[in-house]
Amino acid sequence: MPPTTPGLHHVTAIAGDPQANADFYVGTLGLRFVKRTVNHDDPQTYHFYFGDYEGSPGTNVTFFPWSERGRDGEFGAGQTRDTAYLIPPDSVDYWTDRLADDGVAVEESERFGDTVLRFSDPDGIGLELVASAERSSAERASGDEPRASDHAADADAVPWPDGPVPDEHQLRGFHSVTLAVREFGPTEEILTDVLGYERVAEDGDRRRYQTPADGAHSILDLVETDAGRGRMGVGTVHHVAFTAESVDELEAWKEAYGERGLSASGPIDRKYFRSLYCREPGGVLFEIATDGPGFDVDESVEDLGSSLVLPEWLEDERAEIEAALPEFEPPSVAGGAR
Ligand code: ZN
Repeated sequence: MPPTTPGLHHVTAIAGDPQANADFYVGTLGLRFVKRTVNHDDPQTYHFYFGDYEGSPGTNVTFFPWSERGRDGEFGAGQTRDTAYLIPPDSVDYWTDRLADDGVAVEESERFGDTVLRFSDPDGIGLELVASAERSSAERASGDEPRASDHAADADAVPWPDGPVPDEHQLRGFHSVTLAVREFGPTEEILTDVLGYERVAEDGDRRRYQTPADGAHSILDLVETDAGRGRMGVGTVHHVAFTAESVDELEAWKEAYGERGLSASGPIDRKYFRSLYCREPGGVLFEIATDGPGFDVDESVEDLGSSLVLPEWLEDERAEIEAALPEFEPPSVAGGAR
């Protein structure tokens, strides 16, 4: 049996304008800019990472802003439709107001008993904020027994003390991702037989899976779509990454993919983690990434994201790289704002 992932590690998407991208994820959503670097395979393109204060696995959404050079993507089968962050149960009104203030159109719904706020980022990438239908802080204070679904309290996201969103309303790391596929079967088989997810619920065209870790970011949903194959480009998610505890686990997963006739590339050194990539039969690119070493290998936790960091092999070309990158001003954040 291959190892079992505890859940999501990061999500990587293609953005357009780097400025609009960072302003939204930092300024509106209140995620911390944890790493500003370049695409190691294409140093004329930025690679931005946004997450919790420390950039913990399970909290990071990362972007390649293709700027005006990039072609637009097209949503379709084989793609991530929505990336969902967990918010505290008492924060729904706060987020509804905050997003409205920033001109973001929000659709509110109920799903498996949770309140879901659905909206798009400036490039049209689908996002959700999920308030788990668990105890409110008032109920918690009253000392009721914990419930099985009471995982928000265990979320391991580290609050950003100087962020634009007050601690008590900050995003708590991923709740889940929703992948769109033509049919459940082939993708479900990889989720359950290779990654260790279990199907736990079903509602209409949606199936829910969860890892036995049962904690924050342990959920993944599949929806069936009649749409044709999506096309990768600006406004689409490039890949979804799951967490591994060690490089040895990556090797075991590579073998497990191989036994199912799938070829996986890696492990590859991504500096902040080691990664294995495989396109699952439904068309979604799956990465499995190690927990560490983490984002503090080249910057202190206090300084994360404060300057452009380059891998050693590109340091000699810093001047040329900086000159070729699109214009960009890191979002200035006044702490503890609205
Ligand atoms: Zn990745």
